[in-house]
Amino acid sequence: MASPIDTAAPSRASSVIQQHAYRRGPRITAIETLIPDDVMPGLLLLRIHTDEGAINGTPLVGHGETYYIPHGVAATIHDWMARRLLGADALAIESHWRFLYERCTSFGGLGCELRAISAIDLALWDILGQVCQQPVWRLLGGPVRDRVPVYNSCGGPTYGRRPKGAPDAQGWPGHGDLGQPGPLEDNWNSIHASADLAEELYSEGYRAMKLWSLDQIYQRSGGHRVSWADLEQGLKPFREIRDRLGMKMEVMLDGHGFFTLSAALRIAEATQEFKPLWLEDIIRPDSSDAIVEFRRRAGVPIAVSEMLVTREQYRSILTRHAADYVMIDPTWVGGISETRRIAELAQLYNVPVLMHDCTGPLTLYAGLHIAAAIPAVTYQETVRAHLRTLYPYLIDEKVSVEDGHLPLPERAGLGVRLQSELFDRDHPGYRISKC
Ligand SMILES: [Mg+2]
Repeated sequence: MASPIDTAAPSRASSVIQQHAYRRGPRITAIETLIPDDVMPGLLLLRIHTDEGAINGTPLVGHGETYYIPHGVAATIHDWMARRLLGADALAIESHWRFLYERCTSFGGLGCELRAISAIDLALWDILGQVCQQPVWRLLGGPVRDRVPVYNSCGGPTYGRRPKGAPDAQGWPGHGDLGQPGPLEDNWNSIHASADLAEELYSEGYRAMKLWSLDQIYQRSGGHRVSWADLEQGLKPFREIRDRLGMKMEVMLDGHGFFTLSAALRIAEATQEFKPLWLEDIIRPDSSDAIVEFRRRAGVPIAVSEMLVTREQYRSILTRHAADYVMIDPTWVGGISETRRIAELAQLYNVPVLMHDCTGPLTLYAGLHIAAAIPAVTYQETVRAHLRTLYPYLIDEKVSVEDGHLPLPERAGLGVRLQSELFDRDHPGYRISKC
């Protein structure tokens, strides 16, 4: 990997965050993005190409991903972030992260921009791991465990996909498909055959499952007020699981941020008898004051929140003791670099960390690397329907949950590659920027 001393892309390094002038790593030659709208239309896949080979001589390629507003993220990457990255040192991860973050925050940008940074950050860590011929978790100081505990989040195969028979429709973000009766239809089954589903998951080795059984009530009645009748219906799956399996299965409820504080307090009161492991995003986390109030009065553990996207937002929650668990999506908050910082901040407060996934395979892999290296991580979220139906279209590794755990990634870098045939230059969702 020896390279001449060089300040890569010096004309672009006008910030105080300068490129390193020594020990330059492989130079970035091209950035590709692809929106696989026929698989997961909210997903953005990314590859960063370099000019140098790994041990086998094949040019190093880093893989990244993020989820939500993918066309906006692609534009952010190609229209200006590429100007920083093309020709630059691929291993100057923190330099690039800080430069791009500061340019975004100068304009208050923290949504689309942080997602773009997240995808780039994953790809750069992937390249570093390949250069070092080590999985990323080793570069983060791991392992702290031999395998990662997971739970099943009850989404079905069509949750997050384009509705069948409606090729031009995507539904609304956050309003996923309930599904239908059938195998792996965990969203539908969690409501209509909850005890059977819990038994099936238990037999597969899962010891925790998360239900979304209030989503339909929100979509029917809104989130400002929840009647006791609606609650009886929405929490019926919890009653049936407890009646059939007793306390053998941990249960959690995700409210997807649909409810106001007063409705959320009523929901919390009604769930107490089922002893959930946590309630997640019952209220929208717009206000840390409201979350503090909810946690103070809920009487059950509270998880906060994949809907937060900055370290400062997490700090505000942690310093005010407003969370029993912290949930992080590594491809929304700023990649592996920022997820590590947030997880370690949570660890300072002795708050366990949950890694989010329902949104893409590299998000899952990024979570596994963090879980392998940060002791505070308690669970990695998984959606078994996605692992078995969607992710095989996207990655070259099979993800198999055994005994309620996933193994640590073994291959160098992220330990997984996006399927190369996805990056078809004729695909309408394909873009490339190159030197
Ligand atoms: Mg959630």
